[in-house]
Amino acid sequence: MLEYQAQENLLKEKIILVTGAGSGIGRTAAIEYARLGATVILLGKTVKKLEAVYDEIESKGYPQPAIIPLDLKGATEQNYKDMAETIEGQFGHLDGLLHNASLLGVLGPFEHTDIQSLTEVLQVNVIAQANMTKALLPVLRKSASASVVFTSSGVGRKGRAYWGAYAISKFATEGMMQVLADECDGSKVRVNAINPGATRTPMRANAYPAEDPMSLKTPEELMPTYTYLMGEDSQAINGQSLNAQ
Ligand code: NDP
Repeated sequence: MLEYQAQENLLKEKIILVTGAGSGIGRTAAIEYARLGATVILLGKTVKKLEAVYDEIESKGYPQPAIIPLDLKGATEQNYKDMAETIEGQFGHLDGLLHNASLLGVLGPFEHTDIQSLTEVLQVNVIAQANMTKALLPVLRKSASASVVFTSSGVGRKGRAYWGAYAISKFATEGMMQVLADECDGSKVRVNAINPGATRTPMRANAYPAEDPMSLKTPEELMPTYTYLMGEDSQAINGQSLNAQ
């Protein structure tokens, strides 16, 4: 686990978009970024969850966030273009993009793969991120120093039986991060990934229903890595896949 302590104003005046900000790790990261001074754009599927995070940020007196309701499953290229335009119009630039939202899909033997379900997982976990990153790159380039962070997984580095669609999507995520990082090398935009490791969230409980959640790290415990990659202290880091645990 990274020993890093963010300065109180690390993300002051930064504009940071977090996908899947309504629950789990995304929710915690959004609130932590706001605590460190960022204006966070909360993107997710379930508006009620996003509103709860919005209210929590406001009640704590952190910078007023924004909400973008978007279902990554059905979103079109035009949706992402419109989103980029809205962000540029409202804030002028984007300093951080945390690709956190993901779908676990169905775990099971490869032979039983439901191709429709595989397509859906790839759509949410890979195509949506490619589309969003492509649309937002010009807005990220308007920042003095921008950070794009993808979310990987242990099964995105070494395949594991029965993790089919999800593992395939996380390998693709690592690949996308590396390609983009290589293209951005030496520019104002850096691109990295985080493997959170086993964490106490709804997704983990879904994947391991018999596990005692209390035996797992909480999203709060991962935040040193999440804040490090978003703030200026990681300016020299590009193309890395870091373990949060
Ligand atoms: P959660 O299931 O708690 O949160 C996932 C988030 O993604 C939710 O906010 C969800 O929104 C959002 N999301 C899912 N589908 C869509 C969609 N179609 N459109 C928009 N948003 C969507 O998961 P975690 O917090 O555990 O996971 C966060 C990231 O960490 C993921 O990328 C996951 O793969 C990764 N990870 C997690 C590990 C763990 O042990 N928890 C281990 C390794 C990696 P909504 O609630 O509205 O559906």
